[in-house]
Amino acid sequence: MDDRLFRNAMSKFATGVTVIATETNGKVHGMTANAFMSVSLDPKLIVISIGERANILSKIKDSGIFTVNILADDQKELSMNFAGQLKETKEVSFARLNDMPVIDGAVAQIACEVSAIHVEGDHTLFIGRVKDVYLEEKDPLLFFNGKYRSMIAVEEPIS
Ligand code: FAD
Ligand code: NAD
Repeated sequence: MDDRLFRNAMSKFATGVTVIATETNGKVHGMTANAFMSVSLDPKLIVISIGERANILSKIKDSGIFTVNILADDQKELSMNFAGQLKETKEVSFARLNDMPVIDGAVAQIACEVSAIHVEGDHTLFIGRVKDVYLEEKDPLLFFNGKYRSMIAVEEPIS
């Protein structure tokens, strides 16, 4: 199958946008990702999928920790920064949750320890055991059909 056809099909699944962050030798590294899913309630597990060429891959393996930051709709520039889509990299300061680096203003910050690693094709799946979460009442940034979107409130039909 053609790669473009596969990607076009996957782009029809509307998602939020996250920044995955980890820290090695006191240095924080972030990467934009939409391959994120809740896995288990007992114990509390999530999964992320990282491409084999991504710089963050070896850093998560080394540190054994990562955070998932679900971006708010006013954080599109951060998504572009951590996807390497800006001409100049922004300086980003990170807050802490459970002593892990997190992004202030995110809809949700999720701090994880690596519980299992599965290599599948050209990606690596990291199962994260959730250690702590922090939530903010904001609307999320959305991604669909290769474009960023915002939520639009739909009025309830009058019955
Ligand atoms: P780099 O290319 O090394 O870093 C990414 C960017 O973040 C660089 O510009 C870097 O300067 C900046 N950066 C890193 N750390 C910091 C810091 N501490 N402060 C400031 N800036 C910093 N790829 C996947 O593997 N899985 C996915 O699920 C996925 N989903 C995506 C979803 C969307 C909506 C988009 C746009 C891209 C997605 N990607 C995904 C692609 C991925 O984001 C890019 O390929 C990314 O550039 C690869 O990251 P890297 O670790 O190689 O980081
Ligand atoms: P796109 O049209 O290539 O992506 C559409 C969808 O295809 C994505 O949402 C994702 O579900 C899937 N996809 C894209 N590249 C993939 C890959 N290498 N492996 C597995 N699934 C992939 O382009 P876009 O949405 O404009 O994304 C911008 C850039 O970010 C592209 O370079 C793309 O490859 C990359 N990206 C990678 C992943 C990933 O590795 N899981 C996910 C999203 C975007």
